Amino acid sequence: MKTQVKALVVGGGAVGTSIAYHLAKAGWDDVMLIERDELTSGSTWHAAGLLPLFNMSYATTHIHKYSVDFYKSLEEETGLNAGFAVVGNLRMAQTDARMDEFKLYASTAETCGVDYEWLTADQIKERWPLIRTDDLKGAIYHTEDGYINPADVTMAMAKGARQRGVDIQRKVQADAFHWTGTHWEVTCTKMVEKGGNLVPSDEQFVITAEHVVTASGNHAQRTAKMLGIKMPAIPVEHTFIVMDKDPELVKWREEGNPEHPVVRDADSESYAREERGGWILGIYEHGAPARFEHGVPDSFRADLFPLDLDRIAEQYMAMTERVPSCAESGLKDDFNGPICYTPDGNPLVGPAPGLRNMWLAEGFSFGITAAGGTGYYLAQMMVDGEAEIDMASLDPKRYSSNWMTTEFAARKNEECYEHVYILHHPDEERPAARGLRTSPAYDRQKERGAQFGWVNGWERPNYYAPVGFDDEKARSFRRGGWWQYAVDEAKAIREGVGLVDATAFTKHVVKGPGATQFLDWFTCNKLPKIGRINLTYALTSAGTTRTEYTIVRNGENNYYLVSAGAWTEYDADFLRKAAEDKMEEFGYIEIQDVTTQWGVFAIAGPKSRDVLKEVIVDADPDTALSNKRFPWLSARQIELGMCPVNAIRVAYTGELGWELHHPIEMQNYLFDLLEKAGEKHGMKLVGGRAQNWLRLEKSYRAFGTELGRDATPAEADLPRFIDLSKDFHGKDAMVETGVRVKCCTLLIEGPADADPWGREVLYTPEGERVGRLTSGGYSVAFEKSIGMGYVKPELAVPGTKLKVKIMDQLWDAEVTVDSPYDPKNEAIRMTG
Ligand SMILES: Cc1cc2nc3c(=O)[nH]c(=O)nc-3n(C[C@H](O)[C@H](O)[C@H](O)COP(=O)(O)OP(=O)(O)OC[C@H]3O[C@@H](n4cnc5c(N)ncnc54)[C@H](O)[C@@H]3O)c2cc1C
Repeated sequence: MKTQVKALVVGGGAVGTSIAYHLAKAGWDDVMLIERDELTSGSTWHAAGLLPLFNMSYATTHIHKYSVDFYKSLEEETGLNAGFAVVGNLRMAQTDARMDEFKLYASTAETCGVDYEWLTADQIKERWPLIRTDDLKGAIYHTEDGYINPADVTMAMAKGARQRGVDIQRKVQADAFHWTGTHWEVTCTKMVEKGGNLVPSDEQFVITAEHVVTASGNHAQRTAKMLGIKMPAIPVEHTFIVMDKDPELVKWREEGNPEHPVVRDADSESYAREERGGWILGIYEHGAPARFEHGVPDSFRADLFPLDLDRIAEQYMAMTERVPSCAESGLKDDFNGPICYTPDGNPLVGPAPGLRNMWLAEGFSFGITAAGGTGYYLAQMMVDGEAEIDMASLDPKRYSSNWMTTEFAARKNEECYEHVYILHHPDEERPAARGLRTSPAYDRQKERGAQFGWVNGWERPNYYAPVGFDDEKARSFRRGGWWQYAVDEAKAIREGVGLVDATAFTKHVVKGPGATQFLDWFTCNKLPKIGRINLTYALTSAGTTRTEYTIVRNGENNYYLVSAGAWTEYDADFLRKAAEDKMEEFGYIEIQDVTTQWGVFAIAGPKSRDVLKEVIVDADPDTALSNKRFPWLSARQIELGMCPVNAIRVAYTGELGWELHHPIEMQNYLFDLLEKAGEKHGMKLVGGRAQNWLRLEKSYRAFGTELGRDATPAEADLPRFIDLSKDFHGKDAMVETGVRVKCCTLLIEGPADADPWGREVLYTPEGERVGRLTSGGYSVAFEKSIGMGYVKPELAVPGTKLKVKIMDQLWDAEVTVDSPYDPKNEAIRMTG
C-alpha cells in the first residue's frame, strides 16, 4: 500500500469514488482513496437511486446534468452495468402556484441545456392511466433522467478509477490530519471486524498527501473536529418504503407497456417509482429528526433507523389516492436512513476554511445524482485551479464559522429536509433559527414594519410594510404582495431620500508595510489615493471574478475593504491566504475582519444631503457635504451629532448618497438621530429589494449574480475598473480568456403581473438561445421589468432586440446603454 500520494480521498461513497475517478481522469496519476468500511457502506447503499435533473440552482443543475450524461457512458468504459433505467421524471402540479414554480425552474433548465416537456392532466392520463389526474393542473416531464443502482454506479466508478491507476484501500480510517506546510500527514488506522462491529486495530500508519479531499458523508462532524473547522453537514432521517405488488401495475407491464417515469407529487411531498411490480414511495415528511449531531456512534455501520409509520402516514395515504390501484398493496420493506443535509440543501464543495490543499465534499442530500458532476467540477478546481462553472454557491465558507453552531445546523437541516417539496418561491424566507445576528437597530426596524431577509445569519430588512403584514402569504413566483412597498421605497430614493441598513457588509482592514504592494497585486483596478475610494476586483487564477471590493484608502498603508455581506468567510479566507503567500515578497500585512465592529447605514436620494446637514457637526455644516469638500468617491471622518462616522460618498442606488460606517454600539443613537432629521424631508426606510432594483437601473453588477467565477471582469464589461498597465493576480489568464460572453442590461416588456428573477433564458427574435439573465426586477424609472445578464458579445450592444422567457412565454427585451438611468452619473454628483 502506498503511503505517499498526490491526492488522498477520504470516503468511499458515491461522492468520494467519483472524485477519485475524476482526479485520475483529469491527469493526476497518484491518487488514493481510503474507506473505513466497505465501499458504499455509508448512505450510498440505501439510496433510492433517483437522478432528478430538476434543480432550482444553476450550478447544481450543471452538476446533475453532468452526472446523468456521465453515468450513461460508464458501462462502455468499465463493462459494469449500473442499472440506469432512463424512465424519465414526471413532476406533477396540483396548484397554479406549483405550475409557476415549474415555469421558473424550466428557465434555469433551458439555460443549462436540460430538456423538458409540458404535459396537461389529460396527457398524463392518456400515457399513464394508473395515475389519478383529476386534481392536477399539469406536469413538467424530463425524459432523460430516471434511476440507477447507487451501489453499482459507485462500483463502476471505482473500477474506472482503478483502471486509471487509483489505489483504493478499504478498512482504513483517517484519524488525524496534520499540515506540515507543504503536505498533509494523515494518520490512518486499519479497521477490523469484531463481533459484527467495525473496530480500530492496533495498526496505524501515516499517509502523506499533497492534497486531501474529505467525502465522509454522515461522518462530517467527526471530520470537522479532526480538521478544527465547522461544517453545517448533519444528517436527517429519510424514509422510503417498498410496497408489495400492485395488480394493475403488473397487468399494465404484462400488456407490454413501458415502465412508469419517476412520479413526483410535490404537493403531497413524495416520489414514487416502480420496483418489481410494486412501488417504491419516498417521502419528505415533517418532523424527521437530525441525527449524529456529535458524530456517528461506532456501532452504526450500514444500518437503518426504525420506521416511523405515523410520521409518513399522510403522504402514504396521498400515494394511495394518486395511484389508487396500490391501495391494497402491503408494505414489503422500509428504508429509514441518515441523509446528510446542509441548511440550504446544497452540498459543501470546495476549499476548507483556513486550511491549505484541503478540499471538502460533504453534506450531500442528492449525493447519487450529484456525485458524477461533483467529481468532475471539483477535479477541475483542484487540477486546473478553477471549475468551468461558478462553484461559489456550493463553497463551504458560505456559512461563516464565527457564528455557525451545531444547533443551528441541526435545526436548519431539519427545516431544509421538510422544505424539499414546499413551493420554492424566489422571495422565500425560511423561519428556523432566525434572529441570530441582528444589528442593534433591528427592534426599531421591526417596530416600523421591516420584513427581514436572511444573509449569512444576519437579519436584513427586505422591505417595510404595515406592522402585522404577513410576508409568507405575500410570496409569489410573480409580483408578490410586497411588490408595491418595494416600488414606493425605490421611488423614495429616486425622488426624495431613503435609509438602508447595510450593516451585513463584509469589512476588512488591510494595513502594514506590505499592504499597498499587496493590494495593488491582489486587485485589478488602480489603488485609490488617500481619502479616496475605488471599486475593484480580486481575480481567480483563471482570471475570473473572485470578489468585488470597495476599497477606501485611509492612509499610505492603511485600507478599509468593503465586500458583499453574504460572503464574509469566503472573502476573508481568500484574502488571508493570499496575504500570507505574499508577505515575504511585499512585507508584513495585517488583515482584520471588522465586519461586526462597524454598522452601516446607506442614505441616498436627492434630499440625502439635506438630511445629513441637519445633524452634521462641522465648523461649516453648509459646505461640509458639498462636492468641493466631500466629492463623489471620497471618504471623510465626520460627526453626526455625537456619533463619529466614516462616511463614504457612494450609493449603490445611483443617487446622491453616503454610506455611514459607524461604531456598531452607537447604531441606535445614529438611527434615532437620522430618523428625526429625516422626518421633515420625508425620509423613508428602504429594504434590500428596492435597492436591488435601483442598482439594476444603474447596471451595477452584484457579486453572486453578474460577478462570479465563471466570467472575467472584462466579460462583466467593466473595463473602467481594470488597469491593464499594471500586473495583477489573474491578469494574464483574464487577457488570454478574451471575451466569451458579455454582461449587459435589458429593459423588458414583460407580463403585467411578473418580473424576471435573474434565472431566465434569452433568445434572439429568430429563436436562437443566446444567453441568460443573472438578475431581474422592476424599474421604477422606466416603469417596466429590467434585467442584467450575459449574452454573446456581439449582442451586448445597445439597441439589440432579444426575447426573454418569463413564466414560459417570450417577451420583448432590448439591450440598453450601460446605466440606463442617468448614464452620465449626474444625480450621484449632484451639487449642493
Ligand atoms: C433513504 C434514502 C434515500 C435516498 N435516495 C436518494 C436518491 O434517490 N437519489 C440521490 O441522489 N440521493 C439519495 N439519497 C442520498 C444519498 O444516499 C447520499 O446523498 C449519498 O449517498 C452521499 O454519498 P457520500 O459519498 O457523500 O456519502 P456516503 O455514502 O455516506 O459515504 C461516505 C463514506 O465515507 C466513509 N468515511 C467516513 N469517515 C471516514 C474516515 N475518517 N476514514 C475513512 N472513511 C470514512 C464512510 O464509511 C462512508 O462509506 C438517499 C438517502 C437516503 C437515506
